[in-house]
Amino acid sequence: MRKLELHWQILIGMLLGILFGFAMTYVDWGKDFVSDWVQPLGTIFVKLLKLIAIPLIVASLVKGISDLKDISKFRNIGLRTIGIYIITTVFAITIGLVLVNLMQPGNGISQETVQKLTDTYAGDAGVTSKIAEASRQQNSGPLQFIEDMVPDNAFAALSDNGLMLQVIFFTIFLGISMLLIGEEKAKPLKDFFDSMNEVVLKMVDLIMLTAPYAVFALLAGVVVSSSDPDLLLALLKYALVVVLGLALMIVFYGIMVSVFTKKNPFWFLKQMSPAQLLAFSTSSSAATLPVTMERVEEHIGVDKEVSSFVLPVGATINMDGTSLYQGVAAVFISQALGFDLTFADQLTIVLTALLASIGSAAVPGAGMVMLVIVLESIGFPADKLAIGLALIFAVDRPLDMCRTIVNVTGDATVSMMVAKSVGKLGDPKVKNWDDNLKK
Ligand code: ASP
Repeated sequence: MRKLELHWQILIGMLLGILFGFAMTYVDWGKDFVSDWVQPLGTIFVKLLKLIAIPLIVASLVKGISDLKDISKFRNIGLRTIGIYIITTVFAITIGLVLVNLMQPGNGISQETVQKLTDTYAGDAGVTSKIAEASRQQNSGPLQFIEDMVPDNAFAALSDNGLMLQVIFFTIFLGISMLLIGEEKAKPLKDFFDSMNEVVLKMVDLIMLTAPYAVFALLAGVVVSSSDPDLLLALLKYALVVVLGLALMIVFYGIMVSVFTKKNPFWFLKQMSPAQLLAFSTSSSAATLPVTMERVEEHIGVDKEVSSFVLPVGATINMDGTSLYQGVAAVFISQALGFDLTFADQLTIVLTALLASIGSAAVPGAGMVMLVIVLESIGFPADKLAIGLALIFAVDRPLDMCRTIVNVTGDATVSMMVAKSVGKLGDPKVKNWDDNLKK
């Protein structure tokens, strides 16, 4: 029998997980059963992916840079990457703002619903912790972001998943210095990282063998802990605006792929689908990063010289889905609470959502923390922040899942565009997990 393609296997796992989760909400012990016996499988899977993220970034970035031969190429790739990331993010926020102004989802919300959502969530630990986290991040100077990028201890950076930019900084520094000492002297280190890179990519293959089961567990967990369906329904129009915006972003990426790389956009989406499905199931672009890298390099054909830099940087600073959502959410909350926004306020949203998406961590729910900062930038009353967040909290998880798909697809699109522009987009070279085993 022909083996079902990976994305179908994952999709089936997801659907069964959703059905199972729903079934379990009808039994008294269902929720506990899922959280005690099913969800841990999903958590282990996410941990495995995070486990290999840093070794993969280091090994592939060292390999990518030391293959370059010429440092000026690296500057070229770096500048293009950052430039395109900023353009796509501003585009995403603009789409979000246009849609939310046209469709006005906040004006249809009744006072009763506002009250009900406020009563349910305004004092919720989830909401208060997001506001506290935002104020911690906000009390920093304008250059803090750059200062934070430079580690003072390489091993401390390498041992913290939250310090991805520090790891990238250290690795680029290492890679460039390897180029400068000349090929012969750098060879032992290069061989070591080359081999490590192969091994870690093999680990991705092995972890992915369990993906269909893991997404079952992850989605069953999401369903049993989701909010009251009535509340979800009240927020339907808002959620639809966000989802419509995100869908338009996927169309936009398709157009970019076809115009700038001359590849078929449907082929691109199909190659990326396992990473997209994992982004949806885990809500974390950082956890999805190893799979994104594997898909982009082996299944699309982007050279490591480009992908090893563009993708890890993208996972941390390029979040088109998140910034689109922040634009929509900020205007929605203002509409629902009767806080008037001027055109200048909306421009402020574009700027702060751009900065906020750079500053958002690539983990579940991070976008909502930065939303607090976006709201404060337009003078939203501080005492109403908890009410504002309470309004959108019920649908945050499903929307987080959807926006993470866009975040990951955006990084992949940009990596293809940059690769094409520097002549580094080749043919796919798919490797199977058992290529070197005797059959
Ligand atoms: N979960 C998103 C990501 O990891 C970030 C967010 O929008 O909350 O890309």
